[in-house]
Amino acid sequence: MEDPDGPGLWEVRDSEIHGSGVFAAGAIWNGERVIEYCGEKITKEESERRGDLHWARSLETGGGAVYLFTLNKKYDVDGAFPWNPARLINHSCDPNCEVHIVKGRIWVVALMDIEDGTELSFNYGFDAEDYESHPCRCGKARCVGYIVGEDYWPDMYKQIAKKEKAAKQKARK
Ligand SMILES: [Zn+2]
Repeated sequence: MEDPDGPGLWEVRDSEIHGSGVFAAGAIWNGERVIEYCGEKITKEESERRGDLHWARSLETGGGAVYLFTLNKKYDVDGAFPWNPARLINHSCDPNCEVHIVKGRIWVVALMDIEDGTELSFNYGFDAEDYESHPCRCGKARCVGYIVGEDYWPDMYKQIAKKEKAAKQKARK
């Protein structure tokens, strides 16, 4: 399913961050819609079921991942399909794109002018729960080390501090 505004704007290649990535295939302007994140609209209940399933499978095979996207309070989008290249866009702590949900559709929109050949990224916005299962390799100067939405960074730091304190207390005994 190709983005009518997008053909020619992006291409899929190997990424230095992780697996395959999506790269600008020409100059992209700040505010431009780059690609649509497509998938199947599912209920939260179904989303939870698939999340557990995909996660178990990815632990088993070491490959694959969970591509569930929060659409609204009632529904998620499962983007784990080959016809959704936007699923390959990597997370970054200092991204050049962000996601806009417009009338039930998910668009990846440029946050700045992006040069031809640059890898596209957005912040996945994960919460701080299970942050340790999602290490970040974005390599940006402001990388926090985990794939966690910026709003949750304080929570994550709190959890890390708590763990460090517990580890110190254990070492003292
Ligand atoms: Zn990072």
